[in-house]
Amino acid sequence: MRKYVIMGVQGSGKGTQSEMLAADLDLVHISVGDIFRWNVSQHTKMGAQVQRVMAAGELVGDDLVESVVQRRLAEHDWNFGFIIDGFPRNRRQAEFFLESYDIDAVIHLDMPDSEVRRRVFARRLCANCGMDYNLIADSPTVPGQCDSCGGELVQREDDTEEALAVRLRDYHTQTSPALDLFRRKEYVFTVDARPAPEVVQEQIRKCVALPPFEQEKKGSGCA
Ligand code: AMP
Repeated sequence: MRKYVIMGVQGSGKGTQSEMLAADLDLVHISVGDIFRWNVSQHTKMGAQVQRVMAAGELVGDDLVESVVQRRLAEHDWNFGFIIDGFPRNRRQAEFFLESYDIDAVIHLDMPDSEVRRRVFARRLCANCGMDYNLIADSPTVPGQCDSCGGELVQREDDTEEALAVRLRDYHTQTSPALDLFRRKEYVFTVDARPAPEVVQEQIRKCVALPPFEQEKKGSGCA
């Protein structure tokens, strides 16, 4: 059983790295942002509650976020463990999490704000199946169209200049202190998130003592 938290600023590749780790280790990937986006797309009551806040790049209230996480983990479908992405985003959420669950490690994807901007504005999402694209490194074969289902590729509603500025501010003022809390408990492994996804994945696996993802590379890369 492995229980990981993955933290990092928007666009640092949390979703991609979580999926890679989850697929290989049979972990359940829990993305709080995906749960909210699904609720918005399905026009649920919760979706209506969070849509405006999300579009503005602001954080959803702690009570709602904590109950979403609690309910998701209470499903107990994670026989081999889980990797939770996008949570915690502040100190209160981190304290709530530590009171309720034990974890093996916090994977921190480190990326400078300048690179975040470059990546976030190149990010596209299939409006139909939700598959992620990145116009820098992972363009679709036909521009604007999903390779998998042919759906239209759109920008996330919160990938605008204004919303990104809010998210970066919140990350530095609210999420960094949560990371510091985990760091004091010696849970945190920091990995440079700028290289290609396979290289980042390999560094993560070295840090948390998992077998290599691909071929062996030199240097541990974790701090
Ligand atoms: P993400 O996909 O992780 O970037 O999350 C998308 C949006 O969902 C965020 O900008 C917030 O509005 C909301 N959200 C996701 N996780 C949290 C959280 N732990 N606390 C508060 N809001 C969150």
